[in-house]
Amino acid sequence: MEKVKFVAIIVSTILFFSCKPGEKPLPRVAIAGLAIESSTFSPAQSDITAFRARRGNEIFSYYSFMKEDSPDRQRAQYFPTMRGHAIPGGIVTRDAYETLMQETLDSLKKHLPYDGLFFDIHGAMSVVGLDDPEGDMIERIREVVGPETLISTSMDLHGNVSERLAHQSDMITCYRMAPHEDAMESKQRALENLLDRLENGKGKPKYKAWIPVPILLPGEKTSTRIEPGKSLYAKVDPLTKQEGVIDAAIWIGYAWADEPRNRGVVMAYGDDQAAVQNAAEELAKSFWDVRNEFEFVAPVATLEECLDKAIAFDGQPFMISDMGDNPTAGGAGDVTWTLTEILKRKEFKNENGPSLIYASIPGPELVAKANEVGVGGKISGFAGAIVDNRYAPPIQLTGIVKAIKKGDPDANTEVVVQVGSVQVIVTEKRKPYHYEKDFTDLGLNPRKTDIVVVKIGYLVPELYDMRADWLMALTPGGVDQDLERLGYKRIHRPMFPLDKDMETPDLSARFIPLANE
Ligand SMILES: [Zn+2]
Repeated sequence: MEKVKFVAIIVSTILFFSCKPGEKPLPRVAIAGLAIESSTFSPAQSDITAFRARRGNEIFSYYSFMKEDSPDRQRAQYFPTMRGHAIPGGIVTRDAYETLMQETLDSLKKHLPYDGLFFDIHGAMSVVGLDDPEGDMIERIREVVGPETLISTSMDLHGNVSERLAHQSDMITCYRMAPHEDAMESKQRALENLLDRLENGKGKPKYKAWIPVPILLPGEKTSTRIEPGKSLYAKVDPLTKQEGVIDAAIWIGYAWADEPRNRGVVMAYGDDQAAVQNAAEELAKSFWDVRNEFEFVAPVATLEECLDKAIAFDGQPFMISDMGDNPTAGGAGDVTWTLTEILKRKEFKNENGPSLIYASIPGPELVAKANEVGVGGKISGFAGAIVDNRYAPPIQLTGIVKAIKKGDPDANTEVVVQVGSVQVIVTEKRKPYHYEKDFTDLGLNPRKTDIVVVKIGYLVPELYDMRADWLMALTPGGVDQDLERLGYKRIHRPMFPLDKDMETPDLSARFIPLANE
């Protein structure tokens, strides 16, 4: 006991002398989090190499609002521990999770105590043999930092909020836009809400309302660019401006994992109980009321119909989303079914046929062969279906190497192989193609190409802006958009839209106790 007191005196003395006389010491704020979206309906697994981990001061570089001279950076003494980020994929191995978690906890133990912790996660991580990994993560962090530290949790709106995560988070929020153009703004809001409470001395917000909403929808039906997502999410900001409410959020949840926590959730928090309750209940009711209006963000068709339309179309480029294997939602990203079907079509057999870019398929062996023969060389080899071969086997590509690019942080080496009139991007490792530069760096010009097929769901902004037309193809894979085909066993039932004609659920606010209660 005496020893503890002595240490406390030393620590407070150091804190006192580390700031100018008359000034309050800056709050001590730790940063931690792991972000991945992982499908349990894909045979893929994500090991530790899937994560890009930033450690210590490197973490600041991830946040545009945390530059050395930025105002937020001056508001606290930060202790960045580890923040890991991965391309979505299959379930995370237990070993990878435990390793990253242990490193985070060890790093946190070095600089105790903390006034606050900025917990920056996605919320749709699946881990082998572990339910609710984000709930587990925050509980283990709590055991280290203690119940009094203010934790502000920042999430993706496709994350899941278990009651445990809601309980351990003093403040919690998520994006309000899909595609997530407001990602940085949301993270900044989560951090600034935390800093405000530390500076004004009000500490933990008094009330947290949590409402599970039994709706499970794919992200491709819930874009905020179109209705009803647009109007639904537009209701959030005005509610947070009400007296006594600090923030509110709607989580669409993640459809490609099978756990009780996978469903929609609404939360609001603040110091005025009635206002917090009203905000949460209004959002939950609004969400439920528009459930029948969610449709795919672009017309959906079979791949065959998509290709027929694209070939007949006059204009460039006609974009096709290869949705079922979208790696940015958790697909393996190496399903060859779509490319196999494309190369079967007679229209593409000749190099004078309609030009088509296929982005992309991982094929390390083919990339190695391309390196041997070089640009302009003839090549024949197999790609894809190493992880997910349920729909088609590895595909044989025979053609000319058009480009080789080395040093991509995701793909390592990228190769373009021309087969007939199709330019296939083959990568050493999985990589999403979201930016025009991803194509032009390989000597490809998507704006002057007839058809561009991308393993993606809804188009990200740069691709959306360049499209002459667009269809989403209902292709097979680990993130099949036809949820009824997935065969859930563990989610709560009834669940909209799987259970038709379900009764109106209880959408009243549940007040979750504070983390120190
Ligand atoms: Zn998301």
